[in-house]
This record gives sequence, C-alpha cells and structure tokens, in this order.
Amino acid sequence: NENSVNSVNSENQAWDFDFDRQHIWHPYTSMNQAFPVIGVESADGCELTLNDGTKLIDGTSSWWACVHGYNHPKIISAMSKQLNMLPHIMFGGITHTPAIELTKKLIEMTCKPLTKVFFSDSGSIAVEVAIKMALQYWQGIGKANKQKLITIKRGYHGDSFASMSVCDPDNGMHTMFGDAVTKQHFVKAPQAKFGEPVNSGDVEALRHKFISHHNSIAAMILEPIKQGAGGMYFYSAEYLKEVRALCDEFNVLLIIDEIATGFGRTGKLFAYEHADITPDILCLGKALTGGYISLAATLCTDKVAKGISDSPAGVFMHGPTFMANPLACSAANASLDLINEGKWQSQVINLEKQMVAELEEAKCYTAVKDVRVLGSIGVIEMDHSLNAAELQPHFTELGVWIRVFGSVIYIMPPYTISPKQLTQLTTAMKVVAKMISDTPASTKKVFISHG
Ligand code: PMP
Repeated sequence: NENSVNSVNSENQAWDFDFDRQHIWHPYTSMNQAFPVIGVESADGCELTLNDGTKLIDGTSSWWACVHGYNHPKIISAMSKQLNMLPHIMFGGITHTPAIELTKKLIEMTCKPLTKVFFSDSGSIAVEVAIKMALQYWQGIGKANKQKLITIKRGYHGDSFASMSVCDPDNGMHTMFGDAVTKQHFVKAPQAKFGEPVNSGDVEALRHKFISHHNSIAAMILEPIKQGAGGMYFYSAEYLKEVRALCDEFNVLLIIDEIATGFGRTGKLFAYEHADITPDILCLGKALTGGYISLAATLCTDKVAKGISDSPAGVFMHGPTFMANPLACSAANASLDLINEGKWQSQVINLEKQMVAELEEAKCYTAVKDVRVLGSIGVIEMDHSLNAAELQPHFTELGVWIRVFGSVIYIMPPYTISPKQLTQLTTAMKVVAKMISDTPASTKKVFISHG
C-alpha cells in the first residue's frame, strides 16, 4: 500500500499517503509519527478491499460497530431512500418519521422503565448527555449538591471532558489535562470474572464509598459485563446486580454505557440482561446504525425526565445541530429491523463456540497471559504491552484487519462472518501471539497504544 502513493481510485482521486501523513490526524497518533495507514477503497460483507486490490477480513467491525457487515442491501436501501427525501433537518421544533420510528423501536427493545430518548451524534456525547441528565435530575428534586460521579477503574466512556473524567484514572487522560478534568470517585475494577460469583471485597469497597460520599454522588456509571477499551475484561454479572442494589439503597442513579456492548455483542441483546437489572439512564451508539453512520442515543426513565423538567432550567440543557439526523435514523431503523429478525442470536452463539475452540491452543504460548471469549468477542491477552505499529503489517500479510491495543489481541467481528473467515481471524491471532512468544524477552518493546 505504502508503495502505491501515485495510484488513483475508481473516481480518479489520488491515494496520496504522504499528504495524509502530513495533514490528517488519525486517532491517538502524532503528526510526526510514521504510523502505518492502509487505504480502503470499498467494503462488502466482512471484507475490506484496499487501494491495491488486497482483501482483508475485518476482525474489528470498524471499531465494534458494523455488526451486519458492510454494504448490507437493507441498510443501503433505507439510507438511499432517506437521502433522496430528507438527509438532514434541524430537530428544534421539527420532527420526522425516521426519529419517531426509531424511538418506538428503542423503547420496545430496551427495558421497560426507559421511555425517553435523546439522540446525539457520538458515543462520547451520549455519555455527556447521560451525566448532564443525572445532574439536572438531582437539581430538579432539590438535591443540587449531588454532582459527583462514581465508577469502576479500567473503564472507558469517551474522549470528551465529562466522559474522560470517568475513564480509568491511570490511563493518562487525567494527568494530561489536569484540573480541566473533574475529579470523580473510583473503586477498583471487579475482580471476579464473568461466570464467577462476585468478590465480596469488591462489593464492600463500593458500599464504603457510598457510605462516605452518597450525599454528593449523582450517579454511578459503568460498562456492563465487558470493560472494552480498558483491556477487554469480562466481569461477574453478580457484581452488576450488587451495583444496582447499592445505587437503590443510597439514592444514586445508575448510568449503563452499552455503547460497545449493546445490540447483541455479549450474547444478550443488552449486557445488563446478564444481571437481570435495569438502568436509570442508558447510553447507546456504535452498532445502533450497524456502523454505517454516526448516531448515539441516551435513554432515561420517566422519573429522570420529570426531575429534569422540575429543575431550575425547566428544560434539558443540550441540543446538538445534528440531533436525530434523519439519514442516521433511517440507517438505525434498518439495522434494528435486522436485529429484531433475531438471527444475531444463533450467529453470536456460533461465533462464541468457534472462538472458544480455536483460541484454546493459544493458552500454551509462553507470553500468553489469558485467553477469553464472551459472545462475539475473542481475546488473547499477552503478558506485556504490544507495539501496534509493528504488529499491524503482520496481520495485513495474514489477510486480516486486527488492531491490538495495550496487551490484548482481540477480535469483535461482524455477526455475519462465515466460519471460514472466522478461522482466518483466529489463526492470525494465534500466529502473532506465537510470534511474540517466540521473540526473546529482551527485544520485547513496551509501547502503549490505543485501540
Ligand atoms: N463508551 C464506550 C463503552 C466505548 O467503547 C466508546 C468508544 N469505544 C465510547 C463510549 C465513545 O464512543 P465514541 O467513540 O463514539 O465517542
């Protein structure tokens, strides 16, 4: 790819990688870092086609979003129709059927108490909105001193300021931006793994925090069952149950961030179902549109909405320009129709079974610390941090698109991936894990990279 700087795409536009490197930011990169980028020309099913015609199987679903695969006729057709009718309209004082339909579906699919939907344009903003909802709610019921948040370590909720404030305190964001990031309360991440009974020490630690600070805590926020960008950990569902009980006991709202886990990724439609609980506020994004266009949603209960109406402002203080964009809502409607057809359930069960069987072998490689699978998420955790830039070309050579981060090699493929394609992904994971294990320890570089 890097050599085809002068090639052009089907529209006669140049693949100017040098220009890209000099002028365009990519996520978590520096402008003078020669991080390899590949050029993607098109995508179909679970396959990306690069500028030089190479095909790669996408093991990431485009950052966990593209669950139905690329170029799905139903989503493309819904979006094309909407594009010709009304691609965008302001949402202040105006409504449209794509938003109404989508809201009906979301209320139907999520748990009963969630009845009010706020649409925004990214996961980070869905989290900002959730936090603002919680704070305004307490103002509305006369407890304006409840302004702090509590969360578990190792979490990730986005890159905006309020969402950063509840990301893992050790991931660098907090020290980097100093006082601009609000100080929140953290408890240690739950120790018990998914399927295990809860660790009573973890519950006690949380209870202690609540006892000391509940008068100033508006909400607890966490990723349910799976902590993603913090290292792909799957924790005990019983812990989540205990969290709900403590929030009720201490009068704290529960915000569940299902941006990465929502719509079937962990084997349940929503991960909170593993614990049989319901949140007061729910954040959705990523797979909401099947990953075709950016859209996020924050749902809340009648109780929260009423508190906000009773707050001094009388209205909820947020209103983005692209709120409930009709094109994005049409993609989400088509994506949720596909989810509601129900095929995802057997697809995810089959992916889980196959990954459990195929990744097992990696456990015997010396540098492998853990192998874990939940739903359509497969993880090989290494015993040291990995160099993403160095490893990327190896995956490309093996015909797959996999991005390591921290110390994990993971996949979260589209649910529609074929068994053969999945085997190609798991094989690539094992080849690279073995290669790392076979590299003498002294040459292993410690290099933190982000997803
Ligand atoms: N919350 C969770 C759990 C996430 O995984 C992410 C993104 N990886 C976000 C929030 C932020 O979403 P976005 O990148 O769309 O702002």
